[in-house]
Amino acid sequence: MKNYLPLLALALAIGPTTAMAADNCTINIQSNDAMQFDLKSATVSASCKAITINLKHTGKLPAAAMGHNVVISKSADMAGIAKDAIKAGAKGGYLPTGDARILGHTELIGGGGSTTAKFPGNVLSAGQDYTFFCSFPGHSTIMKGKLIVSN
Ligand code: ZN
Repeated sequence: MKNYLPLLALALAIGPTTAMAADNCTINIQSNDAMQFDLKSATVSASCKAITINLKHTGKLPAAAMGHNVVISKSADMAGIAKDAIKAGAKGGYLPTGDARILGHTELIGGGGSTTAKFPGNVLSAGQDYTFFCSFPGHSTIMKGKLIVSN
């Protein structure tokens, strides 16, 4: 990490395109019929112009039974969002609309599906406590992980 920092500083000095190439700007995550993500943590950089979430559902069950998405928020906001997601219901994709606590999210997918979403890196601050989770009712107790944010 110590060796990496001067490189990052150099990349930032050269320009944002180079910095994006040097940083963690993509989260690749898989989910399954056993209500699991394959990641317990992910690291992204707040300096990314856009952070891409690639979610794959390797299971077979439909979204109505075993739907998964990826929602990113401050860890302290997760429980409240998960509660409001139930109110949003299946028609709302289990996501409250226009909720400022939701910093980034994918759509809800079923088995065999995959989806991609982007959100700006500058909504994150390095060192703060963030969580990624699935907002399908009941899933966030297990389907969650730590989002580590670097500069
Ligand atoms: Zn889920």
